[in-house]
Amino acid sequence: MGITGWVDSQIQNPVNSKDTPESQADIVGEVQGQSQDLSSVEAVVRGCKACVLHQSRSNTVFGSGSLTADWLLVGEAPGAEEDKQGLPFVGRAGQLLDSMLYGLGLNRDEVYIANVLKCRPPRNRDPMGEEVRKCEPYLHQQIRNIQPRIIIAMGRFAAQSLLKKTDPIGRLRGRVHEYDKFGIPLVVTYHPAYLLRSPLEKRKAWLDLTLARAVLENAG
Ligand code: SF4
Repeated sequence: MGITGWVDSQIQNPVNSKDTPESQADIVGEVQGQSQDLSSVEAVVRGCKACVLHQSRSNTVFGSGSLTADWLLVGEAPGAEEDKQGLPFVGRAGQLLDSMLYGLGLNRDEVYIANVLKCRPPRNRDPMGEEVRKCEPYLHQQIRNIQPRIIIAMGRFAAQSLLKKTDPIGRLRGRVHEYDKFGIPLVVTYHPAYLLRSPLEKRKAWLDLTLARAVLENAG
């Protein structure tokens, strides 16, 4: 159907750990800025107890996709279905994300998808700052290894935590930021789960994705 058809049809038919943060970061090479093999980092994540979220998770959700992807899509944290399956963006939000990628001529195997947090917050509550601080080194390792050319922050929380800003998502989207730590262009858009609830916003999400594509094209 492509993204245009997808957007138009939706508009027409709206529907306590012993680990300190430092030692945890050190495990994944964050302190020294070293790159580590992602399968080893994933193994560390699987056993991670650095924040309270390890107590309620069923599975860690590390991320999936191409290890040489140009596009890195980052959401907030696993939801119920992701926690059950151990995979990012499954269920209806995942299907919507697939449609969005399809509109760009991409599929999941060509991008990399991850979350800021690797464990599900209970009852999908907002992540706490301390949880983000302890989990961030894993995302940094993913970025260091994959070296994406563009980062898409999906949803308010992912955008605010990656950019270290408190502005509402409406003010963060629609322009190109830079992910300071790595100097990678970053575009903010809505989370697919939000788009399922607010289908009229899909057109804006499509504009965000085309903005990201233009950044890549202009960079050659
Ligand atoms: S959310 Fe991150 S820091 Fe917390 S237990 Fe899970 S993997 Fe570790």
